[in-house]
Amino acid sequence: MKKSIIQGIFIIALFFSIYGILSMVDWISFFKIETITEKSEAKIGDLFWKMFQENEKENKNAYLNHSIDSIIDKICFANKIDRKIVKLHIVNKAEINAFALPGGHLLVYSGLITHSENQEELSGVLCHEIGHIALNQVMKKLVKEVGISVLISMSTGNTGTQVIRETAKKLSSTAFDRSMEKEADLKAVDFMIQAEINPLPFADFLNTLADKEPEDLKYFSWINTHPDSKERSKYIIEYAKGKSFHKKSILHSPTWEKIKKDIQE
Ligand SMILES: [Zn+2]
Repeated sequence: MKKSIIQGIFIIALFFSIYGILSMVDWISFFKIETITEKSEAKIGDLFWKMFQENEKENKNAYLNHSIDSIIDKICFANKIDRKIVKLHIVNKAEINAFALPGGHLLVYSGLITHSENQEELSGVLCHEIGHIALNQVMKKLVKEVGISVLISMSTGNTGTQVIRETAKKLSSTAFDRSMEKEADLKAVDFMIQAEINPLPFADFLNTLADKEPEDLKYFSWINTHPDSKERSKYIIEYAKGKSFHKKSILHSPTWEKIKKDIQE
């Protein structure tokens, strides 16, 4: 009798401790992320990119594309990032914006290049977006925004154009979690330092854009989707402080000047 009571208590204790351990695991996000394979992510990214291609005008200027690609080459090489995962697309649009789609598609609007005072500012935004890609945050954001089932049906080709359009829009016009944004910012500083790019102009860029008049803000999508620019600027400066690094320009000055000229045409 006594033995069976002890056995009973033991079983109950065992049950609760297993339950306790299991409940500590974040199963939802574990399964949500794991069920989306790399292949599915690539498929979803291609769908989104196709949609943008149909609606936006891609800038095919070879010199421009090659030059921006060479900035990305340097960032990836210096940080041991597989270069193939970042696929650059320059889109002719006045908005200051850049964002990553699933599968490493990185869209850069011409307005961002036009409004970058120097190549370091542009490199900072590129590093931030490459940070979102390298930290695998793009799919995490989508899972949170639209749910796993929508994404799975998208990867199997079972979604209508409207859903694809609305989901893709979330990537161009909404922010990641504040913690993810900060993570991508600090990653960007690390990437820049490794690639011998001065990170301080990136902080200046955020600071300057934060001071723009509200009526201009419709052009500043990247700032709208990335709030608290002043605060970001401060923690970027703080994080970079005390880190020793070389400051080199990736592109020669004439190349940067030609880019700025070409982008106006
Ligand atoms: Zn971001």
